[in-house]
Amino acid sequence: MKHVVVVGSGASGVHFAQSALERGWRVTMLDVGRSAPAAELPQASFARLKSEHPDPAGYFLGRAFEGALFPGAKGEYYGFPPHKGYIFAPLERFAWRARGFDPLLSFARGGLAQAWTGGSFPFTAAETVDFPFEHSELQRCYGLIAQRIGVSGAVDDLAPYLPGHAHLAPALELDEHSRVLLAAYQRAKPRLNGELRCFVGRSRAAVRADDRDGRQGCTNLGRCLWGCPREALYTPSLTLRALERHPNFTYTPGVVVTRIEADAANRVRRVHAEQLEGGAALALDAQHVALAAGTLASAKLLLDSLRAHGGVAPVLTGLMDNRQVLVPFVNFAMLRKRVELDSYQYHQLALGLERPDPRHYVHGLVTTLKTALIHPIVQSVPFDLASALWIFRNAHAALGLVNVNFHDERRETCSLALEVERDGSSKLLVRYEPAPDEPERIASTLRDVKRALRALGCIAPPGMTHVRPMGASVHYAGVVPMRAERTALCTSPRGESYDLAGLYLVDGSSFPFLPAKNLTFTLMANAARIAERLDD
Ligand SMILES: Cc1cc2nc3c(=O)[nH]c(=O)nc-3n(C[C@H](O)[C@H](O)[C@H](O)COP(=O)(O)OP(=O)(O)OC[C@H]3O[C@@H](n4cnc5c(N)ncnc54)[C@H](O)[C@@H]3O)c2cc1C
Ligand code: SF4
Repeated sequence: MKHVVVVGSGASGVHFAQSALERGWRVTMLDVGRSAPAAELPQASFARLKSEHPDPAGYFLGRAFEGALFPGAKGEYYGFPPHKGYIFAPLERFAWRARGFDPLLSFARGGLAQAWTGGSFPFTAAETVDFPFEHSELQRCYGLIAQRIGVSGAVDDLAPYLPGHAHLAPALELDEHSRVLLAAYQRAKPRLNGELRCFVGRSRAAVRADDRDGRQGCTNLGRCLWGCPREALYTPSLTLRALERHPNFTYTPGVVVTRIEADAANRVRRVHAEQLEGGAALALDAQHVALAAGTLASAKLLLDSLRAHGGVAPVLTGLMDNRQVLVPFVNFAMLRKRVELDSYQYHQLALGLERPDPRHYVHGLVTTLKTALIHPIVQSVPFDLASALWIFRNAHAALGLVNVNFHDERRETCSLALEVERDGSSKLLVRYEPAPDEPERIASTLRDVKRALRALGCIAPPGMTHVRPMGASVHYAGVVPMRAERTALCTSPRGESYDLAGLYLVDGSSFPFLPAKNLTFTLMANAARIAERLDD
């Protein structure tokens, strides 16, 4: 039977594996795969969890307050709950040094998307002109992935920018604040659509209201950030759990893949790995290997493999990530209203800004504040703590955040390379330089976003807008791009390396362009697409 080894159990890895199994391949998945703690009080709402948990401070903030964001924490409004620490725990064997970039990696069972906010946005045909295959292939795979993971949303004013696809489930019921914003949009539409080319509609998320495939539908527990105990919000570990029941699937956690060995004809022959416990070396014969370790870790594996094969590691250029700018706002129509704590926590609306070049579309996720870590917000209010808390309590229901995403393109000045240590081990060197026109693009876009907010009856309080550092959006892509013509350090349209035959890059590393959209839905669709074409 045909056999493929997959490295990594994140969003890319599990959907590649599922499609390969469906095509009759035997799949071995090697993964560091740190696992999650069990869900606590799974049926309790956010409010009940606070009152009934035996140690609420420990649960929400951590026993050493590791979940707290202290004043001056680079203006971030999100913090990670302590029990999600397993997702981001560093791996000693994976060393890196970065300039102009804050890398975030995951070595968890399910990868980074164990902590994602579920935003699932298809790329348009115009945004994928650099992808060397028909957009219809991706479009079909969006439907396939939506069926597997459960994506909800609507086809509305955003449809030209967020195309519809098969298996799009109805959107969740809106929280009151989002309802008020959408009603304000209907009233202000002529100005927003005309002058500002701004469109508002339902966001798309990997969450459903109905029970299906052993998962329970969303009942507005308001615990999304802490990990949905009903499994309504999709995470890759759910797919992995299902794959583990497949007779042709083997999951091996607790191993770090170190390199892929190729023969003199540059064909993949063996995978080398180390046990996490004790460091014992492992080798597995394989002629087909899919790297789904996340763009940075996959690129490091490729560089380490090319170094072992040819003596030198090249430099991979074209690292991309979406710049994100957080714009908090206050909605006057919601001041002094009761906050709905039992409510879906993440973005229910999205806001799009059309640009003359459709590849430069700007994408905003609109999250109204319900349950969240409130201390990062309170401490950024420019008053003493007592006044800031009073303002927060009265304004809580009126607060929201637009997370504005910008596109990125491949540039020579953004790269990944290896630094080889005396003992032969290697460190990943990450270098990122923003495009020269970025400050002007951000400034003019933020002017438009603030105008749009005013038209919706909101203001963005001065001094609270936060330009997140590069790397913070964790939408890494682009260092081994897909090309139609054979090119060194690139892949074929089927994701196969042009340097090492039989090696597939099935995560973001092979994206040739990064639209201003969260990319994970496309990661999954593309990984499934590549697996379906393994036999070609
Ligand atoms: C807080 C947060 C919110 C987000 N929200 C969204 C969102 O709303 N929408 C969206 O589209 N995206 C979102 N993202 C981004 C999204 O999570 C990532 O794009 C996605 O998870 C990447 O998946 P991946 O499978 O390519 O890689 P990863 O998730 O990085 O998975 C890598 C896997 O490889 C394994 N691995 C790595 N190196 C090795 C090795 N050497 N040997 C063996 N195993 C290895 C790891 O254990 C892991 O299983 C969010 C991310 C974060 C952190
Ligand atoms: S609100 Fe969030 S935590 Fe609650 S059921 Fe829905 S997705 Fe899960």
